[in-house]
Amino acid sequence: MHSFRYLQGRLHAENVDLQTLAERHGTPLYVYSKATISDHFTRLDQAVNRLDHLVCYAVKANSNLAVLNTVAQLGGGFDIVSGGELFRVLRAGGQASKCTFAGVGKSREEIEYALNEGIYCFNAESQAELRYINEVAGSIGKKAPVAVRVNPNVDAKTHAKITTGKSENKFGIDFERIPEVYEWISKECPHLEIKGLQMHIGSQLTSVEPFIEAVKKVAPLVAEMKEKYNLRFFSIGGGIGIVYRQSLDSGTQEWWGGEGQEAHPLTIQSYADSIVPLLEPLGLRILMEPGRFVVGNAGILVTRVMYEKRGGAKTFKIVDAGMNDLIRPTLYEGWHQIVPVQKASDSATETVDVVGPICETGDFLAQDREIPVVKEGDLLAVMSAGAYGFTMASNYNSRPLVAEILVDGADAHVVRERQTLEDLVRGEHIPG
Ligand SMILES: *Cc1c(COP(=O)(O)O)cnc(C)c1O
Repeated sequence: MHSFRYLQGRLHAENVDLQTLAERHGTPLYVYSKATISDHFTRLDQAVNRLDHLVCYAVKANSNLAVLNTVAQLGGGFDIVSGGELFRVLRAGGQASKCTFAGVGKSREEIEYALNEGIYCFNAESQAELRYINEVAGSIGKKAPVAVRVNPNVDAKTHAKITTGKSENKFGIDFERIPEVYEWISKECPHLEIKGLQMHIGSQLTSVEPFIEAVKKVAPLVAEMKEKYNLRFFSIGGGIGIVYRQSLDSGTQEWWGGEGQEAHPLTIQSYADSIVPLLEPLGLRILMEPGRFVVGNAGILVTRVMYEKRGGAKTFKIVDAGMNDLIRPTLYEGWHQIVPVQKASDSATETVDVVGPICETGDFLAQDREIPVVKEGDLLAVMSAGAYGFTMASNYNSRPLVAEILVDGADAHVVRERQTLEDLVRGEHIPG
């Protein structure tokens, strides 16, 4: 479910009119729906409720404090990849004891911070990192809870830049080496406490088969490690794909397939139905680390058409949002549905490139896309931009970071203010 639809010809986020919102707060503007976040989180949480489980939302997908607070209120945990993300979780009202700490390059400061706050577990990605966590924990008189990330060498069949579970990726330790690594930890690392085993095979998976393949491959290893080292949990990672093309007409909430997407993609029920029976016999706590699934469909980027440029080969709609605001199209060939905020009165369309103001050829939101005819000054909504949208935004071209709004029913809260020009130079100094 998502909560963006046309009401009387105008696109709304829940009960908030986006045209009015954009006029009040300016564009570009990220707008999130709290109901959609809650709905997605809860649906996953309930689909696996036969398992002792914890849904650890992957903070890197969208780390706004209000989003984290929403997840915390739903009882969620958090999968973090930096000390900065831990700081955000704590500031948002989340508990360290429900945080897992992933990532290949944790620093001493981050490890100490996480130990002092009492996180649930470090998910370690190499033996060198385990050695280092052991040393840091020993130096401050603590025992660090650890899980090893296994690289199951399974093809997630997603985009190359978001595939993580193949042996040529930098993530995790090879499946075959896991038993010796656990033995080494238990013998050589007195400041580590083996607590679990983790995997994460990639992002935006649109079929359930790679998940099944990975769980089937790793479950026997988990059972063996549980027997020997008293594991408490198995984390199956995140990666649940979302549909990037949706129906936005009032009353209809169905998903439908878009370019490069199956008409019947992975559903949360098919995901749960196929993996829960494989996980139940383990008798362990199961962790899940969804990012995109929780927030992807819950956010949009509202942008204004500034100019139209008709070239020999193409028509460009130059909008005020650029790759610095939403990098997915150019970084991952991410496909976002783009719709007018004010529904067109006729069905005329044209094929255009929707591009931003940044001085880069890669600065586009869509290429060769058929969209309803829009003119200069019109507002467009770039849909399903809630995940890996704002968190990947930058100040490139000295553009202030845009504002973020959280809609809750008929209320719209500014959850991050638009940066000012002063913000752009804060902390900079001219010597002398
Ligand atoms: C990024 C990441 C996730 C979340 O991935 P999604 O595709 O957004 O669900 C989960 N776990 C780890 C270790 C990650 O790096």
